Amino acid sequence: MAHSQLETLISGQRLRTRVQELGRKISADYPSGPGKHDLRLIAVLSGAFVFLADLIREIARDVSVDFLSANSYGSSTTTSGEVRISKDLDHEIAGLDVLLVEDIVDTGLTVNYLCQVLEQRRPRSLGVVTLLDKPSRRIKPVELAYVGFEIPDRFVVGYGLDHAQRYRNLPDVCVLEEDGPA
Ligand code: IMP
Repeated sequence: MAHSQLETLISGQRLRTRVQELGRKISADYPSGPGKHDLRLIAVLSGAFVFLADLIREIARDVSVDFLSANSYGSSTTTSGEVRISKDLDHEIAGLDVLLVEDIVDTGLTVNYLCQVLEQRRPRSLGVVTLLDKPSRRIKPVELAYVGFEIPDRFVVGYGLDHAQRYRNLPDVCVLEEDGPA
C-alpha cells in the first residue's frame, strides 16, 4: 500500500504574515475614495477560497468578490493543455478594477486562459494575485502582480490546496510525499 507523508513547507504563521503584507500592498495600490474605482476580487475555485477569505480581511477598503471554476485538460507537459470554465462569474466586471486570485500558478495555462477570457469583458484593469508560484514549471507566460511565495517544483497541499480533494483544511502549506509500496 502506498503511504503519503506531509512535510511543512510554509507554516500558518508565515502565511499569515505574508497575506497581511499582500493585503497592505493591494490597499496601497488600489486606494479608495472619491473618483476611485470599485475593486473586485475573483477567486479561482476551489483552491483559492482559503487564501481569498484571509486576503480580503487584510484589505483596508471596500472590496467585492466573485468566484469561477476552471478545469484544465490534457497533459501539463505539452502546450496543448486545454482549460474550460465550469462555473462562470455571477456578476459583470466591465469598468471594474479586477484581481484574479489563485492558489498556485504552475504551468500558467489556467491563469493565461482566464486572463484572456476576463480581458474580453472589459474590466478597467486586470491583475493576478497568487499565493504560490512554481516558476520552474511555466509553459505559458503570465504576468503576476502579487506573489506570496515562490516554491520549488514539489506537489503541495493545505491552506486550500488539495490532492484528490483531501488536505484543504491543513493550516500549513505542506509538501506531499508519496512513498512507494510498504
Ligand atoms: P496551471 O494551469 O498549471 O498553472 O495549474 C494551476 C492549477 O493546478 C492550480 O490552480 C491547482 O489547482 C493545480 N496545481 C498545480 N500545482 C499544484 C500543487 O502543487 N498542489 C495542488 N494543486 C496544484
